[in-house]
Amino acid sequence: MQSFDHDIVVSGGGIAGLAAAAAFGQAGFSVLCVDPAPPVTDRAAEGADMRSTAFLQPSQALLAEIGLWDRLAAHATPLQTMRIVDAGGEAPEPRVTRDFDAADISDKPFGWNLPNWLLRREFAAHLDALPDVEFRTGTAAQRLFTRESEARVGLDDGTRIRARLVIAADGRNSAMRQAAGIDVRTTRFGQKALAFAVTHDAPHGNVSTEIHRTGGPFTLVPLPDHDGRPSSAIVWMETGPRADALAAMDVSDFEDAMTERSAGLFGPLRLVTRRAVWPIIAQEATRLSAQRLALVAEAAHVVPPIGAQGLNMSLKDIATLRDLAVAAPERLGDCAMLDAYHDARIGDIRTRVAGITALNRISMLSPQPLRDLRAQGLDALYSVAPVRRTLMQLGLGARD
Ligand SMILES: Cc1cc2nc3c(=O)[nH]c(=O)nc-3n(C[C@H](O)[C@H](O)[C@H](O)COP(=O)(O)OP(=O)(O)OC[C@H]3O[C@@H](n4cnc5c(N)ncnc54)[C@H](O)[C@@H]3O)c2cc1C
Repeated sequence: MQSFDHDIVVSGGGIAGLAAAAAFGQAGFSVLCVDPAPPVTDRAAEGADMRSTAFLQPSQALLAEIGLWDRLAAHATPLQTMRIVDAGGEAPEPRVTRDFDAADISDKPFGWNLPNWLLRREFAAHLDALPDVEFRTGTAAQRLFTRESEARVGLDDGTRIRARLVIAADGRNSAMRQAAGIDVRTTRFGQKALAFAVTHDAPHGNVSTEIHRTGGPFTLVPLPDHDGRPSSAIVWMETGPRADALAAMDVSDFEDAMTERSAGLFGPLRLVTRRAVWPIIAQEATRLSAQRLALVAEAAHVVPPIGAQGLNMSLKDIATLRDLAVAAPERLGDCAMLDAYHDARIGDIRTRVAGITALNRISMLSPQPLRDLRAQGLDALYSVAPVRRTLMQLGLGARD
């Protein structure tokens, strides 16, 4: 009988890696999750993740099932409506506004928004309470040796861990993916996203608002009130040089620029956090598995932050892999299980990466006639009720 140090090694303790460790730990597998960086769990601390994540309905259901939602519910802001605004005319003002209301397709909101730094705090605390899960920070997974019956992961402290399955959740430059020799296809847009939080005069009313002009979308996602004022997380996508210039502006000039870019819809915007800058790419791995290895989350797919798809796709990866493991625990990490994982997820991933890439290109449009066409297109899609409902179901992941 072969002996293993753990059933599973998860490389990467970002939100996806922590969620994978929780899901497999709760299903009764022993898990070691490693990450070189300890999670930053305070919004004001250097290095805190300024993004927020909108968990769509299927993701919320998974988090509830694995016992994480109880810790999150009190901090979550529901997203009842997704508002798309085209402000692509000569002046930065709204000219087409269309509301997608979750009530059209469901008796629940589309999703629930939470700040990423808080997610890391709560996920890490949850893992502490799981008896068979160890979260080891300050350690990177460096090397991978596999054979048919096992994987050995070489950590950068010199130790080697024997496991039945390695889950690569170590981000877009995944060391485990590279060690297994899996290629990626990458699309570059010459674009960056600024992520930060603001307060504003007008209440958000649990509406997520995506404003299109040039350079990419400007999206406000509702947060709980901050210092007694309505608050939102913003993701502002722009061409790289413009994003760098915005990140370097003094706060008052930046506030003027973002208020103008928001078409004044919420009154003056006030910055209440640091501005973090993220390079925007689309990327997909050519395969989602190799011997004893499964890729999840950004190790497998990266999309521009449009329609809250990135981490929601990642949770679908994790749920699929967990379901296969639970269905046949004795086959954990074997070739048939990993082929089944690849087959189950690759179609959805390819479709979503291609769809979001196209939407991003449309949002970046600069020439006026094309911007006019975009506004007409939004209007046309919205006005046909079955098309509108199908788009909402697709966005939610309730339909493939
Ligand atoms: C601006 C912005 C807004 C977004 N908003 C949303 C949203 O609303 N909804 C949504 O679903 N998605 C959203 N996304 C996408 C989402 O944030 C990402 O999909 C998700 O955070 C990626 O998670 P990850 O765990 O794969 O990668 P990462 O967060 O990059 O985590 C990877 C981890 O692996 C660790 N690591 C690296 N190398 C190693 C190694 N050798 N060994 C061990 N560990 C290693 C790193 O330290 C890191 O902690 C957004 C993305 C951006 C850029």
